[in-house]
Amino acid sequence: EIQLSDRVQRIQPSPTLAVTALAARLRAEGRDIVGLGAGEPDFDTPEHIKQAAIDALARGETKYTAVDGTAGLKDAIIRKFERDNELTFTPGQILVSSGGKQSIFNLCQALLNPGDEVIVPAPYWVSYPDIAMLAGARPVIVSASQEEGFKLRPETLEAAITGNTRLIFLNSPSNPTGAAYSRGELEALAEVLRRHPQIVIATDDMYEHIRFGETEFVNIVNAAPDLLERTVVLNGVSKAYAMTGWRIGYAGGPAELIGAMKKIQSQSTSNPTSIAQAAAEAALNGDQTCVRQMCSAFAQRARHVVDGLNAIDGIECRMPDGTFYCFPRVTGLMERAGVDSDVALGERLLDEAGVALVPGSAFGAPGHLRVSFATSLEMLDKALERLREFASRNA
Ligand code: PLP
Repeated sequence: EIQLSDRVQRIQPSPTLAVTALAARLRAEGRDIVGLGAGEPDFDTPEHIKQAAIDALARGETKYTAVDGTAGLKDAIIRKFERDNELTFTPGQILVSSGGKQSIFNLCQALLNPGDEVIVPAPYWVSYPDIAMLAGARPVIVSASQEEGFKLRPETLEAAITGNTRLIFLNSPSNPTGAAYSRGELEALAEVLRRHPQIVIATDDMYEHIRFGETEFVNIVNAAPDLLERTVVLNGVSKAYAMTGWRIGYAGGPAELIGAMKKIQSQSTSNPTSIAQAAAEAALNGDQTCVRQMCSAFAQRARHVVDGLNAIDGIECRMPDGTFYCFPRVTGLMERAGVDSDVALGERLLDEAGVALVPGSAFGAPGHLRVSFATSLEMLDKALERLREFASRNA
C-alpha cells in the first residue's frame, strides 16, 4: 500500500464534477437523464475566437511563452480591466494562468501558511476551501441564508475575523447562488475589511458578464478603491466566452503578490497553452456581441426555470442576479420525500426522476440544490416536468 501525503488526504475531489460523471455513467447504461449539473455554458466557443487559435497554430505559435502570459494577451487583459472595471494595471501586475482555478491555487500557495485562516462565505464555489487547505490554511466558513439573499453581512464578517485571518474570497455574481452584491453592500463589507489591514481580498469576478439586471457590475475595489493595494482581481474567459476547455484565467493585483504567484506557476505548469492564449486575446479584444447574446439566453432561461421551480410544492427559489445557476431551498421536498439530506434527495432525483443536480452541501449550504440552466429550454422543461411528477408522487 502506498502512503499518500497528509495534504491530499485533507481534500475532496470536486463534487460538481462527480455528479456530472455519475450522470454520464447512468446515461451510458441507457438511462434517460436530464443533466442540470453543468458548470459550463452549453454554447460553442464563438467562431472568431476559434479562428484566432487556428491562425496562431498556422503561424507556428506552438512554443513556450513567457510564464506569466504573452505580451499580447496581457495587453488585452489590461485593456479589459480599464474598459470594464475602471482598473489600471501594469504588465507586472498581471498573471495569466491555466484557468481561473489555477489563479486561485497560485494565490493561496503564494500567500498562506499553516495556521492561517481564509474566510469563505457560504454558499461557496466548491474549490475555495480545498485550495486553501492544500496551502495548509484553514477555511472559515461563514454562512448566509436565502433570506439574506445568500450574501455575507458586515457583522457576520466582523465576527469571523481573527488575528490569523489572511484572505477572504468574494464571488459576485456567485456560483452557486447567482446572487450579486450591490455597491452599497460591498461598501459595508469594505468598511469592516478596512479595520483589518492584514487581510488580502480575492474578488472572483468570473461571472461578471453573465448578469440579468440593468445595474452595472461592481466589485469591492470599485466600491472601495482604497483597498486596491491588497486586492487580487480574478477573472477568466471560461464562462463569458464559453471557453471552459481552453483553460485561460487571469489575475490582476499588487506586483509583489502577483510576482510570487508567478514564481509558483513557474515551478508547476509554466505558461498556459500558447494557442489558447491567442484565442483568449481575440476573445477580449474582439466584438463582445457574443457575450451579450449568451447572456440574454441565460436571462430568459433563468426566469423560466425559477418560475417553474417555485410552482412546485416544497421548492423555494430566488431569482439569480446572474450566472447560469439558481439555488432553490428544497427542505419542503426533502420532508415530502422522507429524506434527511439534500445529498439523499439528489440521489433520489437522479434515480427516480432522471434529473441530475448538485446537492447544496457541496457548496456548504445543506437543504438546497444547485440548478444549472446551461442547457436548452426544452431540456429545462423536461426536468421541471419530472420534478413536478416527483413532488406529486411524494405528496
Ligand atoms: N471561479 C468560479 C466562481 C467558478 O465557478 C469557476 C468555475 O467553475 C472558476 C472560478 C474556475 O474557472 P476555470 O474553468 O477558468 O478554472
